[in-house]
Amino acid sequence: MLVSAKEMLNKARDGHYAVGQFNINNLEWTKCILQTAEELKAPVILGVSEGAGKYMCGYDTVVGMVKGMIKCLNITVPVALHLDHGTFEGAKACINAGFSSIMFDGSHYPIEENLKLTTALVNTCDILGISLEAEVGAIGGEEDGVSSMGECADPAECKMIADLGVTMLAAGIGNIHGKYPEGWPGLRFDVLENIKKTVGDMPLVLHGGTGIPEDMVKKAINLGVAKVNVNTECQISFTAAVRKYIEDGKDLQGKGFDPRKVLAPGCEAIKETVREKMEIFGCIGKA
Ligand SMILES: [Zn+2]
Repeated sequence: MLVSAKEMLNKARDGHYAVGQFNINNLEWTKCILQTAEELKAPVILGVSEGAGKYMCGYDTVVGMVKGMIKCLNITVPVALHLDHGTFEGAKACINAGFSSIMFDGSHYPIEENLKLTTALVNTCDILGISLEAEVGAIGGEEDGVSSMGECADPAECKMIADLGVTMLAAGIGNIHGKYPEGWPGLRFDVLENIKKTVGDMPLVLHGGTGIPEDMVKKAINLGVAKVNVNTECQISFTAAVRKYIEDGKDLQGKGFDPRKVLAPGCEAIKETVREKMEIFGCIGKA
């Protein structure tokens, strides 16, 4: 069932666990994540970046693929199809294409502009029953070859955005996209506590879930994080497994060159990563 992320995140917040957002890149990714969620009876959010959307031949293709799989694989757990770090234009395109959840990332704008653009989306999403994620305080990561140690959001700005009526809020608490750099000082729980105190009930989102130590993720969930985004980790485990298959020469044995065989170890690796993450997030059996 393709649903808004609102209900699953409110339940997660109340139950002190988090729902995983796993980004998809193609058919294999989507299938593996859906199968694992179903097997573990966990609600799940499929994240689609604008780049991945383009790669998969546009948002209509993505919606068609996900809906087709939900039907074909008899997926009964709640699934949200979510635009990750969308621009304003991207958000509109995904709403039109039938996404059930949108992230509008206005964190690189001055707060006034972020407020204005987020406001414009709140009503539309509300009417259509689509969940909306907003972001305050850019989430660090490697951009143009420069990697930062992670920024922190201003709790007062978080409150302004939360009060617009968004469904969930991503706020920088020292987290970073991609691999964490040497000497990363860790999540800023003091900032997270302050934000939580200021915004109240709003489910919070932790981006950059790859490589944050397990105990830190659990602590963040205890402090109000209800959604954790995972992307890089599935990419790393998928590629390592496919590399091993080829390095072991399995593609040269029999019909080992069949792409379905080549990608199969990668798929198993994604499933394992998703399972490990869901165990940490505590969302298994919560569908
Ligand atoms: Zn992110």
